[in-house]
Amino acid sequence: MAKLTGSEKGVGTRTANLGRDREIAGDFVNPPVVRASTVLFENAADMHSGRTRYTYARRGTPTLDALAGAIADLEGAAGTVLCPSGLSAISTAILSFVLAGDHVLVPDAVYGPMRTFASDVLARLGVAVEYYDPTNADTISSVLRSTTRIVYIESPGSNTMEMQDIPAIAEAAHRAGAIVIADNTWATPLYCKPFELGADVTLLAATKYIGGHADLMLGTVSGTAECWQAIRRFHGATGLCVGPDDAWLALRGLRTLEVRLERHQGSALRVAEWLAAHPAVGRVMHPALPTDPGHSLWQRDMTGSTGLFSFTLANADDAAASVFLDALALFGLGYSWGGYESLAVIGSRGLERSFGGAAAGSEPLVRLHIGLEDPDDLIADLDQAFVAAG
Ligand SMILES: *Cc1c(COP(=O)(O)O)cnc(C)c1O
Repeated sequence: MAKLTGSEKGVGTRTANLGRDREIAGDFVNPPVVRASTVLFENAADMHSGRTRYTYARRGTPTLDALAGAIADLEGAAGTVLCPSGLSAISTAILSFVLAGDHVLVPDAVYGPMRTFASDVLARLGVAVEYYDPTNADTISSVLRSTTRIVYIESPGSNTMEMQDIPAIAEAAHRAGAIVIADNTWATPLYCKPFELGADVTLLAATKYIGGHADLMLGTVSGTAECWQAIRRFHGATGLCVGPDDAWLALRGLRTLEVRLERHQGSALRVAEWLAAHPAVGRVMHPALPTDPGHSLWQRDMTGSTGLFSFTLANADDAAASVFLDALALFGLGYSWGGYESLAVIGSRGLERSFGGAAAGSEPLVRLHIGLEDPDDLIADLDQAFVAAG
């Protein structure tokens, strides 16, 4: 089979073929799960040459490289490193670039555990973190400083789903000499190309849609040619690596990503539209709905939407939201998302915002992940839970 060299083929063709190397897999369709620490060299000269493809499993194996290469191709990156979780992809992306005294700008709707990383780790290292309004790209210039090293983007944001104007933010950041790191977990490289929008580094919680089956933890960090060496150096120096089984499962998940996302997208839109018409619902936060404040940005910058969105319960409190969640039969109550199964959480519980609660409002916010079940069944389940919650 000829090696796939670039982005000229359709996405289904690429997800079916990326990471397949006949030199490694032989006559088999899939690469082997290479369980390894030590790599043996032909002779002492090879051992010290630094020219052999593999030197030690922490620095790469055929299984790990197949996945990293496939993600790099889909993101359009110069290279990709694999991390043991999405959160470690966040910390790797940031720590690859910051020095003591640097300033980092983080959107207010950022993934919650990122705030803990900022306060518990970055602050201790002398890196100043400041939160900015994700929905107002015009204000970014006023918060950029001469010491700003990173402008972080997560679009849409966690729980409240605010879309960000990536090109406008990237332009302001670059003018100030900062780099842009974008969390691309929600849209995946299939529906958003952050590098084309001006990002310098992208990251994915591959735990979510890439894996797609709620059975692994994994993260990826990808960079442009200018940023890639710094990421690779930090990743190598800190000894980050992932197990071969997780990488292999993620590669298997990738094969079906396009068809799974189509189903997640269609079902989530159906459920979101149904919710928007329901009297017990306050607001539906889903950027692919024409009524969403981020809709025009979504339309401009993304080619699809996925299965995760939120809504508020009108005239209800957290206790009523708990009754609603407990009444759900098909939605599991659990963290994470991106698997084949539907999930629900109260997204407003413990929601931290520096810009007040305006984004979420005072109504309880329920975050749904719409899985691959039949959407009619999911809607019926939500319907009976509304009745149960009164
Ligand atoms: C879940 C998530 C992460 C972290 O991924 P883990 O694999 O759970 O550590 C990062 N970013 C976003 C947007 C997420 O939803």
